[in-house]
Amino acid sequence: MKKKLRVGILDFLTNKTDDGWFESRVMLPNFASIMPQCVGVWAEEQGCEVFYETYSGREDLDRSFPGDLDVVFLSCFSRASFLAYALSERFRAAGVVTVLGGPHARSFAEHARGYFDYVCQLTDKETILSILRDCSHHERGVVLDAKSQPRSLPGVESRARFIDANLAKHAGRKFFRTIPMIGSLGCPYSCTFCVDAPVPYQTLPYAELVADLRFVRSRYGEDTCVFWHDPNFGVRFDEYMGLIEASGTRLMHGGESSLSLLGEKNLKRMKQNRWVVQVPGIESWYGFHGKGATSRSGAARDNVRRVADHVNLILSYVPYVQTNFVFGLDDDAGDEPFELTKTFVDLAPGAFPGYSLVTDFQNSPLSAQLAAAGRTFPVPFPFLDNTAAMNVRLKNYGLRAFYDHVIGVQKHTWSAQAIYRRARANADRIVKVVNVARAVTEGRWRLGEYEKTRAWMDADPSYLRSYSGAQREPPRRYFDVLERMLGRHWELLPEELKTPSGFVRSLDRLAPARASARLIPEERLLARPQDAVAEK
Ligand code: SF4
Repeated sequence: MKKKLRVGILDFLTNKTDDGWFESRVMLPNFASIMPQCVGVWAEEQGCEVFYETYSGREDLDRSFPGDLDVVFLSCFSRASFLAYALSERFRAAGVVTVLGGPHARSFAEHARGYFDYVCQLTDKETILSILRDCSHHERGVVLDAKSQPRSLPGVESRARFIDANLAKHAGRKFFRTIPMIGSLGCPYSCTFCVDAPVPYQTLPYAELVADLRFVRSRYGEDTCVFWHDPNFGVRFDEYMGLIEASGTRLMHGGESSLSLLGEKNLKRMKQNRWVVQVPGIESWYGFHGKGATSRSGAARDNVRRVADHVNLILSYVPYVQTNFVFGLDDDAGDEPFELTKTFVDLAPGAFPGYSLVTDFQNSPLSAQLAAAGRTFPVPFPFLDNTAAMNVRLKNYGLRAFYDHVIGVQKHTWSAQAIYRRARANADRIVKVVNVARAVTEGRWRLGEYEKTRAWMDADPSYLRSYSGAQREPPRRYFDVLERMLGRHWELLPEELKTPSGFVRSLDRLAPARASARLIPEERLLARPQDAVAEK
């Protein structure tokens, strides 16, 4: 590198300016991504001057960075993508090179390359160094995709100044703070809707993880929660518990994992190691055997009871449990999956349910199947947040009936009675407060979004025309909402992305070959969670 580059890094934790105090000052600062911090470390190692920011909805993005940056890295989920596109436009107009990374880049790289100089899919140190070496404008962005995930990543000590900058925004950090760590990449299982399924599972160096845990204790104190960002923590359960124990620390921990990994023997060890947050995926009552799901041939209610008993068992060892579900998968049909979910909410009242609508993010195994069947349709990316919209034609439901079912589950889950029962079932005071706050903010927001969408499909015929494929353009209303969502950044958004016809043109022009989905190798399609455990 010829000169000392000035590098900006912006990690979007949200796309909104109206998330509310609890969401933006307490919840969102817990969700900073690790990779943007790694980019900062790698850039500093090259002698660059790095400016790091996380966006939680309250920052003034015009003032977040000095005016003389050379390059800015923007990392986002699809929900914040148009905000990133708008900022990229502003930066590029000022001569700053722009790079997009994060889940949106992995999902919609072909589209994004029309609006950024570089787009990073799988990213490692060499990917970043090659960008810093080249650091030039490209009318059609260069898409970089590392051959594999990195073998190791910068540890907590190297990332500390970025962690601190984000933590400073957390109003409740004195009582509860999370430090992002990751112990493994990819997943050995093959859930069709999951973007991590095609990425081979690999561990990260154990000695470095032990050193990280010791550093977290010395810098942030023993009462800090390490949140493991592994797609599926605990695939090698004994080894990871062993390294936590070997570190000699008494930190708290949280992570996501399959229900099948959370047997009582493992839960006891997790409790001994101060496990305080666990997010098991249930996803669907059908089709993901061994992951918590059941088969139609079984006595369905008994199986829901079995899963609820299992979640209650987890709750007796781990104070905070969120259970994730996906609505609209092809295995679902009729009233039953929704009624089973309501029953589950009643039988496991202490768990906080997280609901998602099936969505095609274009890089999961399901994506290729949906594309082949012509079952996806254009929806502006900011609405692909698993709640505000979906871009998949359902196999077994009419759209109105489906939304009625989803709304029914939401009403049941966020009713005053359910909130009260959840609070009573949670033993820990902080867990009670967080769950009540999440229910009345996030939960009720989701219900409101589904109700708005349901009313919209009755009032505006273009909604169902777009869903059915009778028209290719998404309804105009999306863009009216977008204008309000982006506020003053709307002006910066490229003109073609401001209208239904322009958005469709951008898709056709920029992403003609959408078969970029990574496929699971044939031999791995047989893998199910329980097989993968046996494979170790
Ligand atoms: S278990 Fe399934 S949903 Fe979870 S990370 Fe693995 S592939 Fe994805």
